[in-house]
Amino acid sequence: MADTLKTDIVVIGGGISGLWLLNAFKQLGFNSLLLEKNTLGGDQTIASQGMIHGGIKYTLGGFSTPASISIASMPETWRNCLSGAGTMDLRQVDVLSNDYYLFSDGSISSKLTAFLGSKSIRSRVSSLPRQEYPKPFSNAQFKGWLYQLQDLVINTSSLLTTLQNLAEKHTFRTSVRLVCNTHNQVECVQLENGLSLKASLYVLAAGAGNADLLAACNIGSIKMQRRPLHQVMLCSEDLPSVFAHAVSLGSADKPRITITTHKTKNGVPVWYLGGDLAETGVRRSEGEQIDFAQKELSSLFPWMTPSKAQWATHRIDRAEPAQAERNRPDHPYHKSTQNLLVCWPTKLTLVPMMAESICATLTREHTLPAQPGGKNHLALPDLPIAEVSPAPWETAF
Ligand SMILES: Cc1cc2nc3c(=O)[nH]c(=O)nc-3n(C[C@H](O)[C@H](O)[C@H](O)COP(=O)(O)OP(=O)(O)OC[C@H]3O[C@@H](n4cnc5c(N)ncnc54)[C@H](O)[C@@H]3O)c2cc1C
Repeated sequence: MADTLKTDIVVIGGGISGLWLLNAFKQLGFNSLLLEKNTLGGDQTIASQGMIHGGIKYTLGGFSTPASISIASMPETWRNCLSGAGTMDLRQVDVLSNDYYLFSDGSISSKLTAFLGSKSIRSRVSSLPRQEYPKPFSNAQFKGWLYQLQDLVINTSSLLTTLQNLAEKHTFRTSVRLVCNTHNQVECVQLENGLSLKASLYVLAAGAGNADLLAACNIGSIKMQRRPLHQVMLCSEDLPSVFAHAVSLGSADKPRITITTHKTKNGVPVWYLGGDLAETGVRRSEGEQIDFAQKELSSLFPWMTPSKAQWATHRIDRAEPAQAERNRPDHPYHKSTQNLLVCWPTKLTLVPMMAESICATLTREHTLPAQPGGKNHLALPDLPIAEVSPAPWETAF
């Protein structure tokens, strides 16, 4: 019979959710380890734009929304972690930009203009005088307006590495099979080296992979939705760093384009384009999506023609708890059933909030050892340590 090992908590899935939770459980003193079937962050986290935002982009209809209210305090929570004063020590994480902007092509609704200037939102948005506009907005041809937000942008690869190191690399690469009994309770996890792992709690933090794991345990009460995106990448030596949402009358209540700037392995700048362009772009082929992005950029930045630009696209689904009419969820999600806990943060930004809420439920909803197991963490020497995934722009160019 295969060997069975025991631990307090097994985390399945090594994106930002799984890695953050693994560290949070260790901080509480529980023996815990993480199982990743491929590369760390390989689905959504490494493909994300890395924006830690306070939800202003959810107010583009000209009023606060539940999503914008629940997320408002998150930039401060992350800044505390990045300075070493928060609940997670993120001092090793690279910050790509401490500033994030919202710019218009000159045509935004008067309702939104009034809202951005209103007292209720003034602490989160400031309108900049033209002489302080950063590149490329300092160009005389730029006729729109620029607002500075409280948001920041982090390098998600360095976030994943930092969290993996903090957890002393208790992050193993293996396929997993959940063995469940007739009461939908998890009996153990079978690993690809033949070992079985028994735990008091099994945490599914596998993003889109949660759906199959839930199906394997016949749990139909927790449902997932996917919302696809078709992101665009533009790589050229000439690109200035831009971290900004473009808004205009045509973009209604969503950013028309969301731009973040990253680097290829050779240090060449890459603009990574999301927002409405990526949502509507799911219906376009790669070639059509690139054509569309080129037209959008030349209408927003007519004075810029990057030389020798290379283009590519990246398709990826957001995995979230199912909502009516596949709407965007407003909050991070976690739900327990028996000895299983399932989670989707719905935003990278919201992971600290999700982890705090999960940790608060641990002793309330689960039969975990009264005395957490302490520091003698289980090692799985036959299994490789999972590696951090390359970013889409590192493989595309
Ligand atoms: C294009 C894009 C841009 C985004 N930009 C932002 C942004 O700027 N700011 C923001 O706040 N949010 C953003 N988001 C949302 C954010 O990226 C996600 O909410 C977050 O990364 C989800 O993290 P996760 O760990 O839950 O899932 P994932 O990052 O998808 O990680 C899941 C992990 O589980 C593993 N896995 C899957 N199945 C199994 C299995 N059976 N066994 C073991 N392991 C398994 C996968 O390999 C993967 O490593 C963006 C999302 C997308 C798609």
